[in-house]
Amino acid sequence: MSAQPYDLVGLGIGPFNLSLASLAESLGGLKKAFFDAKPEFQWHPELMLPDATMQTTWVKDLVSAVAPTSPYSFLNYLVENRRFYAFLNTGRSVILRQEFEDYCRWVSRGLSSLNFQSPIREIDFKDQSFQIRLDDRTVQAKHVCLGTGLQVHIPKVAEKYLGPRCFHPKSAHLAELDVTGKRVLIVGGGQTGAEIFLNMLRGRWKQPDRIHWISRRPNLEPLDESAFTNEYFMPHYVKNFHKLPIEEKDHIVRSQKLSSDGITPAYLLELHRELYRHGHVERRGPEVIIQTNRELHDLQQHGDIFQARLCHTVRGETSPLACDIVILCTGFQSRLPGFMEPLLPSLGMDHLGRPLVGENFQMDWDGPASNRLYAVNFSRHGHGIAEPQTSLMAWRSACILNDVLGCDRFPLNNEAQGFLQFFS
Ligand SMILES: Cc1cc2nc3c(=O)[nH]c(=O)nc-3n(C[C@H](O)[C@H](O)[C@H](O)COP(=O)(O)OP(=O)(O)OC[C@H]3O[C@@H](n4cnc5c(N)ncnc54)[C@H](O)[C@@H]3O)c2cc1C
Repeated sequence: MSAQPYDLVGLGIGPFNLSLASLAESLGGLKKAFFDAKPEFQWHPELMLPDATMQTTWVKDLVSAVAPTSPYSFLNYLVENRRFYAFLNTGRSVILRQEFEDYCRWVSRGLSSLNFQSPIREIDFKDQSFQIRLDDRTVQAKHVCLGTGLQVHIPKVAEKYLGPRCFHPKSAHLAELDVTGKRVLIVGGGQTGAEIFLNMLRGRWKQPDRIHWISRRPNLEPLDESAFTNEYFMPHYVKNFHKLPIEEKDHIVRSQKLSSDGITPAYLLELHRELYRHGHVERRGPEVIIQTNRELHDLQQHGDIFQARLCHTVRGETSPLACDIVILCTGFQSRLPGFMEPLLPSLGMDHLGRPLVGENFQMDWDGPASNRLYAVNFSRHGHGIAEPQTSLMAWRSACILNDVLGCDRFPLNNEAQGFLQFFS
């Protein structure tokens, strides 16, 4: 067992804990370490399609909202990599996902607190500190921050068929996909569904016979990026939302879905233009069917063929569909990682078994108040629609570090509020 107790240990190094690590780097006296199973920083590598862009402006990088002079800003990344002017000439307010990953990887190389190839096996609390078991040692920490991200959501009816011909695109199967002469069913009408559909139409995985894309939504719905909707992504909104009675919150989050899970308007236009080219100009290639108000009701496998049953969400009618490949762009869900098992009895949960997370992102637990277990991206139900987004990650990291230090090291008060009074 190693001797050094850390002040703060981060579990997982996605963008959210990377933001925390970047801001923590400037805090000289704070002993910190972050651990991730991957060999280096990677951002959803399975879904890194070449045309995929961010849904959030590059100004909302890992640090700038609270520490604009930090060496880990996107601007500094551009300057250090000698492409400040070239970048400005792109006119982009949102960058390619590939470039965001490259920026994060560049930041990660400059941080001494990060440890990759370090899967976390178990966490427990003993002798006044958290004990984090890795493969080769156990480290101790006064506080920890859980940042292991969301898990893929698989519809129940598809669970038993998961494999190379029925899969969520965040899996290794996408890289091996060959749809030559196949009938493909794409399930899910969000950004990922749109990206898989458009890339398939453009022949990324060779030429299928038919692409059938279904969405539960009434249309291919755009991401709502309008000015007043963006007030959900302001610190004061999150603080006020957090104070609401728990029974009011789920309804509000559901009603805000398109501010986070819609398809970007630019991508919808690209998609429409590609469909026009395919259907009206070239008039060849795969048969294309796009159905809205449709959900996957049932799935059976007979030999090499899947028999899907699709249900019209308004009329309730079902219809059969034979296909060879099913791609489940069915989103993500929040689930505590298995290594948290020893701590589960100590955690406070809401009526639906979801962790209760306090204003400063500290989990409710019955251990000593002087040891805190923070969680990022585990409280959409508690903090609102911004929680799984990158929009407020720098602000959230600063809230956590202020709480760890017990002082306002990052000044977060008196930020201008939005114009709408949502809750008063
Ligand atoms: C394809 C895609 C695009 C997105 N684009 C945007 C966008 O443009 N704008 C926006 O605001 N949001 C976006 N999001 C939503 C959100 O910002 C991302 O999901 C983001 O990656 C969440 O960061 P995270 O740090 O919580 O988790 P993750 O990025 O999932 O990182 C979690 C890390 O934890 C590690 N880990 C897990 N378990 C263990 C373990 N036992 N031991 C060690 N390490 C472990 C993993 O290896 C991983 O590196 C996108 C999401 C997806 C899926």
